[in-house]
Amino acid sequence: MQLRFWGVRGSLPIPGPDTLVVGGNTTCVSVEHDNNIFVFDAGSGIHRLGEYLEEDERSGWTGAIFLSHYHWDHIQGLPFFAPAFRSENRFHLFGEEKKGLDLYELLAEQMQAPYFPVSMEAQQGLVTFNPLEAGDCIDVCEGVQVKTLRLNHPNGAIGYRLEAGDLSVCIITDHEHPNDELDWSVVEFARHATILIHEAQYDPEEKRGPKSGWGHSSWQEAAQVAEQAGAGMLFLSHHDPARTDTQMIPLLSRARRIFDKTEIATEATVVSVDAVARGDENPVIVAV
Ligand SMILES: [Zn+2]
Ligand SMILES: [Zn+2]
Repeated sequence: MQLRFWGVRGSLPIPGPDTLVVGGNTTCVSVEHDNNIFVFDAGSGIHRLGEYLEEDERSGWTGAIFLSHYHWDHIQGLPFFAPAFRSENRFHLFGEEKKGLDLYELLAEQMQAPYFPVSMEAQQGLVTFNPLEAGDCIDVCEGVQVKTLRLNHPNGAIGYRLEAGDLSVCIITDHEHPNDELDWSVVEFARHATILIHEAQYDPEEKRGPKSGWGHSSWQEAAQVAEQAGAGMLFLSHHDPARTDTQMIPLLSRARRIFDKTEIATEATVVSVDAVARGDENPVIVAV
C-alpha cells in the first residue's frame, strides 16, 4: 500500500519561492492498494495526481474519491482532473449531502457558467455519486473499508479512516479541537492507525488567539493526537498558506518532542504504508 501527497496546503494554493520545498497546492492524498486508487479530497493537488495517472501505462483506472467537505481548497482541482474526462475510467465519489443538494449537484455548481467553461457532464469518468453520513462504514472493495467521523469545522467536515487488513490510514482535515483539551472522538478514531494525517494549520498561539473558532488545529494538537492514539507515524498537513518552507524546520523539531515519528507532508512525499507497519527505518520515499 502506497501513500502519496499531491497537495498539502490549506485554504489557498500558494506557489512561489517560499513554498518550493513543501509545495503550494491544496489538499489531495492518494492511497494505492491492489490496483485500486483511493483519493482523499480534490484540492488543486489532484491535478498532479491526474498527470501521474495519465502517464501510467495502465488504462481504465477504478477508484474512489472521498471529500471531507466542499470548501474550495478541497474541491477546486476536480474540474482539472484529466482522468475524470475519460470514460474508460471509473471513479466513485463519496461525500455528505448539503443544503438540500445531492453530491452531483454540489460539485456541478463550481463548473457552471460563468464560473467554468465545461460542465461536469463532460466528466464521464466520474460514474457514481454516493451520499454518506458521519459514522458510516463503507465497504469500498474486497477487503477495504472506509470509516467516517464528524469533524468540528464551519459547515461541517468528515474525517476518514481507510483500513485494509492490518494497515490503516486516518485522515483528519479540517478540524478544530477545543482549546486546552483534545477532541477524544478523534483520538479514538485514530487509535493505532498505521499512518495518521492530521491538519496542522496553525501554531498553538494563533489557534488559541485570533484564529480560535476558524475550524482548524495546531501542529501541537496533531502531535498530541498521534501520541495519545498510538499511531505508527504522523504527517502534518493542510499547512497555512502563510507558512514558509523555512518555518517548517523549527516547527517539526518542536512537534517531534511530543511525538517523535512526525514528518511534514510535502508534495514530494511518498510513503510505503507496509514499511511503516513493519517498523522499517526509512518508510518515506522522497519522489523527485
Ligand atoms: Zn481546508
Ligand atoms: Zn474547510
